[in-house]
Amino acid sequence: MAERMLKFTTVERATPAKRAAQTRSGDFHEIYADFIDAKAAEQASRCSQCGIPFCQTHCPLHNNIPDWLRMTAEGRLQEAYALSQATNSMPEICGRICPQDRLCEGSCTIEQSGHGTVTIGAVERYLTDKAWEEGWVQPLRAGPARGQSVGIIGAGPAGLAAAERLREAGYDVTVYDRHDRAGGLLIYGIPGFKLEKDVVERRTQRLADGGVEFKLSFEVGRDASLDELRARHDSILIAAGVYAARELIAPGSGSSGVAAALDYLIASNRVGLGDSVPAYDSGELNAAGRNVVVVGGGDTAMDCVRTAVRQGAKSVTCLYRRDRANMPGSAREVAHAEEEGVVFEWLAAPRAVLGDAGHADGLRAVRMRLGPPDASGRQAPEEVEGGDFDLPAGLVIKALGFDPEDLPNLFSAPDLAVSRWGTVKADFKTMQTSLPGVFAAGDIVRGASLVVWAIRDGRDAADAIHQHLSQRALLAAE
Ligand code: FAD
Ligand code: SF4
Ligand code: SF4
Repeated sequence: MAERMLKFTTVERATPAKRAAQTRSGDFHEIYADFIDAKAAEQASRCSQCGIPFCQTHCPLHNNIPDWLRMTAEGRLQEAYALSQATNSMPEICGRICPQDRLCEGSCTIEQSGHGTVTIGAVERYLTDKAWEEGWVQPLRAGPARGQSVGIIGAGPAGLAAAERLREAGYDVTVYDRHDRAGGLLIYGIPGFKLEKDVVERRTQRLADGGVEFKLSFEVGRDASLDELRARHDSILIAAGVYAARELIAPGSGSSGVAAALDYLIASNRVGLGDSVPAYDSGELNAAGRNVVVVGGGDTAMDCVRTAVRQGAKSVTCLYRRDRANMPGSAREVAHAEEEGVVFEWLAAPRAVLGDAGHADGLRAVRMRLGPPDASGRQAPEEVEGGDFDLPAGLVIKALGFDPEDLPNLFSAPDLAVSRWGTVKADFKTMQTSLPGVFAAGDIVRGASLVVWAIRDGRDAADAIHQHLSQRALLAAE
């Protein structure tokens, strides 16, 4: 093994080739090319096969990273794939969009010793893309029928991961989603340049082919109450994500030309999927030819600025009230955006949307500085006196984050317990909510989080539901 591994001192870290900023900002295709076979093996061989692999500890799915890296280096790709998919329902998706710098790769021992981390995410993506190409991804096989059914609210990564596991265990599974396509934020939130849509669609298709029933354009609260679904199914999983967008509180924020980030990204993704989107055609949700200012510093804001570049905006500026070091978005995404021509106004907050007759044509902003830490321990931004400045803006995009919707009210379920932030309260171990037989997973429990955590929760919730329903079946048989 030793000859094949531990090459980090002689082999430089390399990621798959990144397309040049000028070329990639003209389309919505992914920005990284695929690893070629030899490169994947070479990069995997840099792993030092740590006795205590911190990469694995810091992966929310505890993927067996050192073993599948070794198998990749040895050319045992099918085995490597089999091992990687044993703990991850969508390895090729995590390989593309996990913020690896904050998770597995950020904890890689050889990174800590100054040699540059093993490119774990790129190898993970490579293995599963290869598996799809080679036909190693098996159809979903339902276990022996149990005669019990589970209803899942939400076809995002949490709901899909749970659906797969429950179907494998022999349950009838119905996934309800208010959108007309399955995938949640994977299909309508995250843009194609991070995650191409056919990668998501082949996953949902595999579930549908394996007997998972999708009831799309079905909104729980409008088309059925939670109690009605509970009467239809033996158990329910709430995996509805968080969708109440935080508002821009500033004069003029109701002007035309001020758009919510998710409306903007959904319109763009729909156009990419071939849908007709009147608000895009009319220019309401289209940056072409306009000066665009995106307010916010998270991953959603990064997706908006980079979408605006691709739509042909005249200029794109990101306004964030803290500095670069304190922004919530991934540093990697900021670097991509800068390469693509986005201007960052750090330490700046919106004061007013400017315009004429209710149409935005600019944004007044104010310079900020970081003051003493607040109760959360983070330095609170404070206004700099006399620090006002104006930016031209025909389109202002609000990307200030998301809170949960009021589910007890929306679902006509007043007894569904929620936290003071509105997230659904679920028992840490059993993932059961305050309502018997009703479980919850993903962003609706954690607040806005990550795809990999949603997958982890979906898998855990499926196991908890399986345990709950197996016990119920046993009791009924006594
Ligand atoms: P979601 O993916 O939000 O899915 C919930 C589903 O429930 C949706 O399809 C919704 O339509 C449906 N639903 C909601 N209410 C109802 C109802 N009443 N009836 C029926 N259906 C309902 N994470 C990363 O790891 N990497 C990234 O690069 C990244 N980029 C992101 C970019 C954007 C723009 C956004 C907004 C988020 C991003 N995230 C990223 C976060 C990630 O997408 C989420 O953490 C993850 O999708 C949460 O999964 P989920 O299954 O809990 O919810
Ligand atoms: Fe890293 Fe995410 Fe893959 Fe885990 S799932 S190994 S954190 S890329
Ligand atoms: Fe390999 Fe890095 Fe994980 Fe160690 S921490 S096993 S070097 S990938």
